[in-house]
Amino acid sequence: MTNKILKKYAPLAAIALLFLLLLALRNSAFLNETEVEGAGRPILIQGPMPIEAEKFAQKLEKVKVEKSGTFVFYKGKLDNYPVIVAKTGKGMENTAAATAVAIEKYNPIAIINQGTSGGHDPKLHVFDIVLGKSTTNIGSLKTESKNENEGMDPTQWIPMDLMASEGSGSDPNAEKIRYYEGDKDLLAAANAVKDTYTKGKVVEGTIGSADVWNNEVDRIKWFHTNYGTSVEEMEGAAAAQMAKAYDVPFLGIRVLSNNKTNGDKYNPDTAAANQEYVYEVVKKYISTIQSK
Ligand code: SAH
Repeated sequence: MTNKILKKYAPLAAIALLFLLLLALRNSAFLNETEVEGAGRPILIQGPMPIEAEKFAQKLEKVKVEKSGTFVFYKGKLDNYPVIVAKTGKGMENTAAATAVAIEKYNPIAIINQGTSGGHDPKLHVFDIVLGKSTTNIGSLKTESKNENEGMDPTQWIPMDLMASEGSGSDPNAEKIRYYEGDKDLLAAANAVKDTYTKGKVVEGTIGSADVWNNEVDRIKWFHTNYGTSVEEMEGAAAAQMAKAYDVPFLGIRVLSNNKTNGDKYNPDTAAANQEYVYEVVKKYISTIQSK
C-alpha cells in the first residue's frame, strides 16, 4: 500500500522538490545581485565623449563594463555606494536613448549629465563651470511663414515646446521655451563643494542643448538674450527630458572648453577638470543620501 502511494506520488514530489530548488537558487542569485549593487539605487554620471567619461570611470572601484548598443556603462562603487558612469556618445539622440536605457536597466536615484561646452556669456571663461539651474533645448524651433524668394530669418524663429501638448502644428501654447529645472539636492551638493574647484569659478546658470555648434557670435548673443543661456552643448536637454519623463532627479554640470564671445580658445583639458569636480559633487551627494 505505502509502496503504491510512494510510486504514485514520487514524480510529483520530485517536481515539487525541483521547483523549490529553483526558487532557492533564484533567490540566492537575487541576493547576490543586491549585494553587488550595494544598499542603494545607483547614481548615473553621463559623459558624451571618451575624454568626458573615462576619467571618472577610472576613479570607480570594482568596475564591471556593460554595453547596450553603442552605449558603455561602467558599473562600480564610490565610497562603497553604487555609481554608474555612462559613455553616451555625442548629441541629443544618443543621449536620450542612453538615458532611457540606463533608467530602465539600472533604476538610478539621480542623473548628472556632464562634459564640455561653449560659452554664451562673455563673463565666463574656459575652465569655468556652469551648474544647470535650468537646461533647455535650443534646437527646437518653428520658423516664420515666408513665401518663395522671401528669404529666411533665424532671428524671427519661434521656440517650440514639443512637450506642450500631444497635438500638432498650430498649438499656440507650444510657442514657448521649456526649461528643465536642476534638482535641488544635486544643486546643493554641487554648491557645497564649489571651493574644491580651483581652475575657474563655479556658477549656476542655464545650459542650452542642440545638435548644432554655433560659431556666429550674433546668433550666440540671440540665445543668450532670448533663452538666458550661459553655455551651449549637445546633450543636457535630451537627458533632462528623459529624466523628467521618468521622474528622476537631474543636474547638468558643464565646463567651458571654448567661448567664442570673448575669444577663449578650445581646450580639451577642461573635460578632465570637470570630472574631478563632479567626482567631489557625487561624493557629497552620497554623504547626504547616507545621512538621511
Ligand atoms: N572638438 C570635437 C567636438 C565634438 S562635437 C570634435 O571636433 O570632434 C561637440 C561636443 O562637445 C559635444 O558633445 C558638445 O556637448 C560639446 N561642446 C563643447 N563646446 C561646444 C560648443 N561650443 N557648441 C556645441 N557643443 C559643444
